[in-house]
Amino acid sequence: MDEPVSPFDVALSRRGLIALAAGAPLLVVGLAAVAHAEEAPAICVDLDTLPASQKGMRRSIGFRLHSPDPKKHCSLCTFFTGAAAGCGKCQLLSGGSVAATSLCDSFAARA
Ligand code: SF4
Repeated sequence: MDEPVSPFDVALSRRGLIALAAGAPLLVVGLAAVAHAEEAPAICVDLDTLPASQKGMRRSIGFRLHSPDPKKHCSLCTFFTGAAAGCGKCQLLSGGSVAATSLCDSFAARA
């Protein structure tokens, strides 16, 4: 036979369900934010505010903020020097900032 359930147990159980129901969406949003943060490339440079010389150099080498090829991006390039997390400097851009995930037509794989 089942044991009798006290009103306290029922209230606790309801509270637990309500708390779980209220917390579940927050957990999902939190996990999605963490996943998105891992995928989002670092923002190392604001292309709109660069000096004209940097804009011209970037245009001439076909600079793209985000590489479409996971095997070719700045952090794998011989001209890249790492700096802050996800960011670095490019020798071809006179030390201009690039994201590790950026790419240009002058990419040269590190030996
Ligand atoms: S040469 Fe191009 S791919 Fe290499 S670090 Fe500079 S911008 Fe990135």
